[in-house]
Amino acid sequence: THFGFRDVPVADKQKLVGEVFSSVAGKYDLMNDAMSLGIHRVWKRYFVATAQVRRGDRVLDLAGGTGDIAALLKERVGEAGELVLGDINGEMLRVGRDRMTDRGNVRGFEYVQCNAESLPFPDASFDLVTIAFGLRNVTDKDAGLREMLRVLKPGGQARVLEFSEVTADWFKPIYDFHSFKVLPALGKLFAGDSGSYQYLAESIRKHPPQAELKAMMEAAGFVRCDYKNLSAGIVAIHTGYKA
Ligand code: SAM
Repeated sequence: THFGFRDVPVADKQKLVGEVFSSVAGKYDLMNDAMSLGIHRVWKRYFVATAQVRRGDRVLDLAGGTGDIAALLKERVGEAGELVLGDINGEMLRVGRDRMTDRGNVRGFEYVQCNAESLPFPDASFDLVTIAFGLRNVTDKDAGLREMLRVLKPGGQARVLEFSEVTADWFKPIYDFHSFKVLPALGKLFAGDSGSYQYLAESIRKHPPQAELKAMMEAAGFVRCDYKNLSAGIVAIHTGYKA
């Protein structure tokens, strides 16, 4: 199958994203390590370590998948804190919940199957909302950002960890080779499916670069928006606050 999603009608994209993640859910963590040489763990740690969050806070991790971010966030909110994992894909959530239980994380976690574009939570119900490697899969990103703002309490922070635009010229050819040659080959090796990883490479390329995403967050209504590049812009952390 060919997953070049430029050719796919928007209505079918949702289903496609569901299938891509269902087909890799069990091997998802291994894949991440192989594709990033383990560096995704460092990015995630930094993302959580620098979040505006306190003990006892209630946090929503969107596109939470297998729960890497939620597990790290739980260390920061402590016993009294609450973590809600939201993901559109039931299979990813199930793997996430199993993994969390294996890590001994049971109390203070909630799993909600939901689309980031229309969240089933009341206004102003979270102190922090995070989305890591998820926004690029959301079809209507503006709607997703507006929903993140809506469910945040005033003064609360939204954080986006996502692939972005590489800023160093010397690194670009290496990065291209990795995206278009190494990724599909790894996809074939691990998932027996190079199509899913072609989708991945394309979704990474189509994601709005740093300044554009910052402007989108401002347009959605966030204040004090800013971003920080990690690893020469392979990924960036965007932050915004609810006034
Ligand atoms: N945050 C996790 C991490 O960093 O390891 C998982 C990231 S994974 C690349 C992307 C996740 O986004 C998948 O679990 C997928 O099911 C979810 N997703 C895709 N579209 C979504 C949407 N519209 N709303 C909520 N979750 C979505």
